[in-house]
This record gives sequence, C-alpha cells and structure tokens, in this order.
Amino acid sequence: MNHNLNTSNRHEEILNQIRILRTKIGKDLLIFAHFYQNEDIVRFADFLGDSLQLANEASKNKDTPYIIFCAVSFMAEMARILCSEKQEVLSPDMHAHCPLADMADINVVEDAWRQISTIDRNITPIVYVNSTAELKAFCGKNNGAVCTSANIKKIFQWAFDKKSKIFFFPDENLGRNTAYSIGIKEDDIFVWEPQGHNNPKEIKNKKIVLWKGFCYVHTAFLPSQVEKLKDQYPGLKVIVHPECLPELCAISDYNGSTSFIKKTIEGSMPDSIWAIGTEWNFVNRIAKDNPDKKIFPLTDSICTQMSQITPEKLLFILEGIAAGEKRGRITINNDISYHAKIALNRMLEIV
Ligand code: SF4
Repeated sequence: MNHNLNTSNRHEEILNQIRILRTKIGKDLLIFAHFYQNEDIVRFADFLGDSLQLANEASKNKDTPYIIFCAVSFMAEMARILCSEKQEVLSPDMHAHCPLADMADINVVEDAWRQISTIDRNITPIVYVNSTAELKAFCGKNNGAVCTSANIKKIFQWAFDKKSKIFFFPDENLGRNTAYSIGIKEDDIFVWEPQGHNNPKEIKNKKIVLWKGFCYVHTAFLPSQVEKLKDQYPGLKVIVHPECLPELCAISDYNGSTSFIKKTIEGSMPDSIWAIGTEWNFVNRIAKDNPDKKIFPLTDSICTQMSQITPEKLLFILEGIAAGEKRGRITINNDISYHAKIALNRMLEIV
C-alpha cells in the first residue's frame, strides 16, 4: 500500500517537474508525439499525429530550436532529416527501435535491388516510412519515394505512372492490402524473402515485389476475433490498420491509417459500436474522446517499443535543455540525410 503510494507520488512529482520545465523552456521547444504514445506523454505534446501529419509538421517548422520527438527512432530520424540544421531533434529513447523497420537491412535491400534490376530496370523502389534513414536514402538515390499508410495509394499510383513495377519494403501486409485496393491480383505479386532463396526471374511478369516484413502489433489481430465479436454485438463495425493481415482487412468494414480511423469514428453515428484493430493506447484514447459510442480494441495489442518513451525519460531530456546540454541528440550522416530528404520531399510533394 505504502509502496503504491510512494510510486504514485513519485509519478506525480515527475509529471509536475515536466510541467515546470516545459513552461520554463517555453517557445524554444516543441514536443511531437505519435498517436501510439500513452497519456502521460500525449498530455505534454504540442503536436500529436500519425507519421504523415508529423512529417508535414516537422517540414514546416524551421525556427523552434529544440524538438523532442516522442516515438520510435525512425520517426525522430525523419524529423531530423526534415528540420533545419540549426534545430536540434532530441529523442527520449534512441533505442526505441520499430521491429518492422529493422526487418529491412540496407545491405540486404541493396543486394535484392541489384538482382531485381538485372531482370527489369522498369521498377521504382518505394519505402514505408517505418524504415531506417539508410533505406529512405536508397529510395532518394534510385528515383523512389517514401510513403505512409495515409498516402500509400497515391504514391503507388505515382510510381505506376512512371514505371511498370514497384519494389516495396519493409511491410508485406501494407503492400499487399494496398495492391489489392488498386486492383492488383495475387498473381501479379512476388514476395521477396530477405532470409531465403529468391528467383529474380520470377518477377518478370509481376507488377509488385513485396519485402517479407510485418508489424507484430498489427498481425496480432485475427479474423476469428471479428467473428466472435460480431456474434456478441449485432451491428458492430470493424475498422483496422492496413498493416493488419489481408484476410482480416477483407472481412473488416474499413481499413486505413490511424488518422483515417480517428476521422471515421469521430464522424460516425452516436451509439454506434466499433471494434478497432490497431495499437491499444490509440484505441483507448479514441474510446475516451468519443463517449457517445461503444469502442474497444479487437484484442489488446501494445507496441512495447512506443511505450519505451516514459515521463522519466522525457524529464531527463528537458533537464538537459534547461542545463544547456543536448541529451538524446539525433544525428544523421550528411549523405544519408541529403538523399533521404529527397525521398521524403517527393512524398510530401505528391500528396
Ligand atoms: S506499431 Fe508496429 S510498425 Fe508501429 S512502431 Fe510499433 S512495431 Fe513498429
């Protein structure tokens, strides 16, 4: 009991210290947070959004000296690439890596690209924003672009207007769901196995080559969960993220990015019932913000890497700024940053 009280007092004290330092640093700082952050971080965010919204905001803001980016590392890297050189981008935990992003290693992708482009040069590389800066730079160098789950359809259409094939990495499910949504059939898809043997000749008659990567948070949602809940709640609507399995997307009422999910639910009828297939923190916030609807997750699936950002770590970064230290400073090699920015700007220009 006393231990719980102490823990809760300590937690309140940390939140209070964050408030004090945040006020003291004032306009010199912006805190960005991804939708999947928990309430103890979100409450301090000056800007909360999905990857596309955060990228847009980072590209517009060129003056604020400090940006603390509360999310997994590839997002903080993206902000570093898009912000101006005089700004500092700081991460509360640089080791919070997205496992999906880590499923595509630059050397393995470059090797695959060499094999694929020997068979057919009429192909555009497209990288999901959930990727390392090196992969974004690779797309910048090879006339490709970055995409997010909010704009992937437009980016695919842009790529197909230029060339006949797409090489998409690292999320197979997002690639496949998008391919189906623009009329590409299973026979036109080739899955590249980064760990296995691939026969590049087989891509000759394909339209899209997908990297075999996945998000463990979104592949935890299954069609059987939908069936069970539909029996329990007549009239239930199901909305899921396109990183989910294609067989789940096929039986869901809607699929789309986190901002699409948010907008769809906010615009739905009072008393409607929703099961959502995306990260647990985000689903809980939507449920809280829409008390006139019944909203719950398809199953509880938490991104533990997003949860590595804690108030204690945020406070440590703020104390650094107040003391004139640059804790959690994100740096990226100039050449990588230059080419990654080309691919990111292409995305921002297309959408
Ligand atoms: S939810 Fe999935 S894709 Fe998003 S950061 Fe977590 S592991 Fe990566």
